[in-house]
Amino acid sequence: MTDLHALALPAADHALTWLTDRCDGELDRARQLVDRLKAAPPTSATDVLQQWNDIAIALGNAGSVSSLMAEVHPQPAVREAAESAMQRVDAFSTDLGLDRDLFDIVSGLPTDGLEPSARRLHERALRDFRRSGVDRDEGVRARLKELAEQELLTGQEFGRNIREDVRTITVTPDQLAGLPQDWLDSHRAGEDGRVTVTTDYPDAIPVRTFAHDPQTRLAMAEAFLTVGWPANDAVLQRLFALRAEHASVLGYDTWADYDAEVKMIGAGSEIGAFIDRITELSGPSAQRDHQVLLTRKQQDEPGATAVEASDVQYYSEVVRREQYAVDGQLVRTYFDFTRVRQGLLDVTGRLFGLTWQQVEAPVWHEDVAAYDVLRDGARIGRIYLDLHPRDGKYKHAAQFDLVRGVRDRQLPEGVLVCNFNRGLMEHDEVVTLFHEFGHLVHHVLAGEQEWMTFSGVATEWDFVEAPSQMLEEWAWDADVLATFATNAEGETIPADLVHRMREADDFGKGFQARTQMFYAAVSLDFHVARHDDLTARLRQLQAKYSMFPYLAGTHMHTAFGHLDGYSSGYYTYMWSLVIAKDMFSAFDRDDLFAPAVAQRYRDRVLVPGGSKDAAVLVSNFLGRAYTFDAYAAWLAE
Ligand SMILES: [Zn+2]
Repeated sequence: MTDLHALALPAADHALTWLTDRCDGELDRARQLVDRLKAAPPTSATDVLQQWNDIAIALGNAGSVSSLMAEVHPQPAVREAAESAMQRVDAFSTDLGLDRDLFDIVSGLPTDGLEPSARRLHERALRDFRRSGVDRDEGVRARLKELAEQELLTGQEFGRNIREDVRTITVTPDQLAGLPQDWLDSHRAGEDGRVTVTTDYPDAIPVRTFAHDPQTRLAMAEAFLTVGWPANDAVLQRLFALRAEHASVLGYDTWADYDAEVKMIGAGSEIGAFIDRITELSGPSAQRDHQVLLTRKQQDEPGATAVEASDVQYYSEVVRREQYAVDGQLVRTYFDFTRVRQGLLDVTGRLFGLTWQQVEAPVWHEDVAAYDVLRDGARIGRIYLDLHPRDGKYKHAAQFDLVRGVRDRQLPEGVLVCNFNRGLMEHDEVVTLFHEFGHLVHHVLAGEQEWMTFSGVATEWDFVEAPSQMLEEWAWDADVLATFATNAEGETIPADLVHRMREADDFGKGFQARTQMFYAAVSLDFHVARHDDLTARLRQLQAKYSMFPYLAGTHMHTAFGHLDGYSSGYYTYMWSLVIAKDMFSAFDRDDLFAPAVAQRYRDRVLVPGGSKDAAVLVSNFLGRAYTFDAYAAWLAE
């Protein structure tokens, strides 16, 4: 392959101009390419598709950098410029999908003799044209365009309200009894003798997990579950109405039907069936573990009849500590951030046959580390790790694209955006890190596709979580952890502790599945029916699916960010997990580094990106179609 350059990022004082140049430059190029294609369409289908690919590359480049910088750049002006660039990219994409002349060119191509991947690209282009409504009359096309713009703006408003609504509670130091000492050291009382704690993850999760005081946990749960309220309730109503109209204009019954058409699951009605299947499969395990939580809570509060939302994390941790002898505070002493980060790179490098070489390159914030990705000595990509919280930054954990790779044209570059503590990490955070890294590796390894459309994490959306969820297994393996999990005294995490951690983690998998199905039902139901009172409907769904009651006065949906990105498809997490468990069954649990299976997985599942249907990738790897068996067996264990 050709030696490709990495994208040169700017120094801080040039960030704003650089961003606008990059986005508008690529958008202008896309516009010129479209004009050229329309003015003089080549007669050969391959030539048309090549130009189509050039357009996709330019548009993708503008989209990647703007959606990344809107979430991570430390300068508010850059974030705002990036948001506005995203709107231009989105508007251009919408125009493209509704461009009748382009559609006529692409749909009129003679496709005989096209090689299979070009034929797939052609089919995909036609499908996307149809889904954007290009074949409808002019009035409908104009309305679809308006809808797309409004949906994007409304989604951005929803995300911004979550990001910027950081809430705080104040408590006395003794109300924080139970929290780890290093956390307490960094949360001292102010002059009024009270400690301020925010709803950001590094505060909220430890408080909900460790605070002995039920009132403190309750106050935090209430604050956490009202982020975005009330503003986002109305924003969501607008978003759902826009999506419902969008689907209806295109002739679909619901947004879920429109959205599911391009997923593995295929139809909106199948989502409900899937949710019910998982709900049923997880029932016995959920009941069993719920009873354990309740019994333990009754030791503290003899009259207790329910496990509340503010109790779940705390009593899960208590049960893990007491019944599985897993002490979260002891566990975290083995997970020093710097060693974990290096360990992750070593483990994934060994598994996938890659080397990560740290490079000195301009980055958007001093916390960010850049690495070149080498395979057989050749650079195949670059990654950036942006792993600590700061003001105005994305609050969750996710992989973003900086550049999507195209064979011999551009190097894949991806970014991990997380919010971890700088010192000791919770093991959960280590698992999250492995998870997100699974997306990053997928992005890089699938970055040598010829066609931009199939580059990177470009499989059906309900499959994309499978590689990342499968990689979590490596963060639970004693041999793997032994390679980097050492405490300040240099002692390696004991294997029997890791085994107990695994058993402890499996505690609650049934009720966790039910909570996930509650979220999935919210995401589906809000997109298939109109509800005047979203909170009231939320309560009904919680009562039906979750093992835990609604917490009075809260509005979980107003900070449920996935309602924007995943829309009706939150089920995809669980769908992917079913497939992840199946794929993992092909690995030797006693030797997770066994090279043959890891390479087969890399080459048959990750490297092809979106060039084949996910079901085909999985069966190419497993040698058979995927099933629910491994997942069901794990639940029953
Ligand atoms: Zn993920």
